[in-house]
Amino acid sequence: MVVHPGSSSPPLSAASRRHMAAALVFRLHDRGPELVREVLLERGWEEYDSQDHEDQDWNLYWRGSTFSSLEYRNLLPWQRLNHHPKTVGITRKDFLVRNLRRMRATCGSSLYDFSPTAFILPNDYTRFLAEHENLHLSRERSAYWICKPVDLSRGRGIFIFQDLKDLVYDGPVILQRYISDPLLVSGYKFDLRIYVCVKSFHPLTVYIHQEGLVRFATEKYDLSSLRNLYAHLTNTSINKLGPFYTAYKERVGPGCKWTMNRFRHFLQSQDVNELLLWQRINNIVTLTLLTIAPSVPLCANCVELFGFDVLIDGRFKPWLLEVNYSPALTLDCQADFVVKKALVSDLIDLMNYSASDSLRQRAYQNRQYRRPGASVPILSKYPGTKCQKMTGTDQRLGPGPLPRPRLLPPVDLNRTHNVVTSSSSRTQPDKTLNLIPGPGSRSNVSAVNSHGGAGLAPWLRGDRCRHRSEVTHHDTCETGAALKISGDTDISYRTPDLQQRRRPGFEPSRLTWKLPRINSMETEAPSDRTTGLREQHVPPVRVGDFIRTFPFNRATRKASQHTLDVKKVLQELQRLTNQLVPGQSEKTSSRRTEEELKKKSEGGEKFESLFWGLKDPPFISQCLRHQVN
Ligand code: ADP
Repeated sequence: MVVHPGSSSPPLSAASRRHMAAALVFRLHDRGPELVREVLLERGWEEYDSQDHEDQDWNLYWRGSTFSSLEYRNLLPWQRLNHHPKTVGITRKDFLVRNLRRMRATCGSSLYDFSPTAFILPNDYTRFLAEHENLHLSRERSAYWICKPVDLSRGRGIFIFQDLKDLVYDGPVILQRYISDPLLVSGYKFDLRIYVCVKSFHPLTVYIHQEGLVRFATEKYDLSSLRNLYAHLTNTSINKLGPFYTAYKERVGPGCKWTMNRFRHFLQSQDVNELLLWQRINNIVTLTLLTIAPSVPLCANCVELFGFDVLIDGRFKPWLLEVNYSPALTLDCQADFVVKKALVSDLIDLMNYSASDSLRQRAYQNRQYRRPGASVPILSKYPGTKCQKMTGTDQRLGPGPLPRPRLLPPVDLNRTHNVVTSSSSRTQPDKTLNLIPGPGSRSNVSAVNSHGGAGLAPWLRGDRCRHRSEVTHHDTCETGAALKISGDTDISYRTPDLQQRRRPGFEPSRLTWKLPRINSMETEAPSDRTTGLREQHVPPVRVGDFIRTFPFNRATRKASQHTLDVKKVLQELQRLTNQLVPGQSEKTSSRRTEEELKKKSEGGEKFESLFWGLKDPPFISQCLRHQVN
């Protein structure tokens, strides 16, 4: 039994936890982050302990580093990982440079103009020299550069220079144009840490948290002292060691962090088109994810939290500095407390844990999955089931340390949809499915049902499945029509593009086609079928403070349904952004009105999103209406 000193959850013994109706088990690699442990224990989860649990006996495995392809391949239906495979394409500095360069070349530089010009050394050294020379000959004599080791973080190994003779490096680095005119607060430089959750890459489903952090340098910005990292870098790990970290700094205050909410107040005091700024940041996130989305292998049971670092320059243009894999969840100051605990809590809600996640417990206790060669529940044992079919001839688990179940027992989820009914409302609680005690839950998505499993399928209660109505695919097969589409096979698994792009070394789980549909919580109204878009699940617009930013309208949902239509997504993004630019919006307004009328008559505007960024996010359409008026 693992003892957790700072936890507010009641000290239950391993045995009593095990007998709880549906204690879910989390496993933390290297015993951290502490915040994740705290949030999950508060919700009544149990921590994995190698003394008490089989190696595979967990529901959520959280680690700061990457999982191996074997770990993805061996995932059981009720297991989730906190990383998608192969996202390093945006989280390693040199890979990000390469991917953004490729997108600029194929999609044009007008949208992909948000990352500073960059070179990967040593390979690009000659190109860098040519650029440096060009700038020197042009008016931009005073170009500054920032040099960063490709595989380090937290400001380690970074320096800024102007003169070529100051460029010294002994390993792979990127050289990035230094944004030398950052927006300042009372003379202090800052950047934004934006928390982005990719719930799924297939179809691409992205949420951005309303809260985030503003990270300040602790000495006044000064281009004549390039070596003073306390003035030029905004990393907390650096600034908390600086002499002015605890000092009160004009307007910024003590320490080096604000919450995003405080930053919104600051913005209101500035002469800035706030809508456009937030939308541009939102675009940066979407456009960056698009660079890897088509090549990320399908793995339905993963979710990932990224930290996007964005710098705003003196003309209010946001720039992407980097994307962080496993953003820090340590609590250094009050702003961290306010932001990060709610963030983790909302993330767990976004994972939408539900009845079928407790299959782990049943599987281990009742069906002896842990023993090699033990028999597993097969379809024919559950009269009336028809939701799964076998892919091979073997209907039993093969030998091995952890036999894999080939079939999911039926679960009647009988769920209500999570629908946001007004701009200020939160995700509506699911009334039947609540499994996990959730005092920490802010959206109540995964709070508990105290009816002793009355809402669960008979299988979960220990009986046999008797009724056809109880036989649904995991999670969100509310209707027979949905079952037809998502129950028998996984649509995205058949996506030809994905199949082709899968690289050697990574094999998706063979169980993928029957994994729970953890990526969706709503079903679109049937009338959509009439417009040619097959009925499918629509993720909620908001979960806690996570706002869905992609897909953001019906067209982008359609464009990401099967093979991702990047071109169409770019068009839609451009169309939306143009409407927020004053001049552009007038130019396009008459055309837009016509387009919108047409769409409305086709029922196209039914699928709406909230406008991420504003404090109480309105629907996008409301924002646009105000812009035009
Ligand atoms: P790390 O992964 O080491 O934190 P970053 O790319 O985030 O590396 O850079 C660290 C800090 O340096 C940033 O938080 C920011 O303050 C500053 N910085 C990085 N790139 C630039 C740039 N191109 N222009 C201006 N400042 C930058």
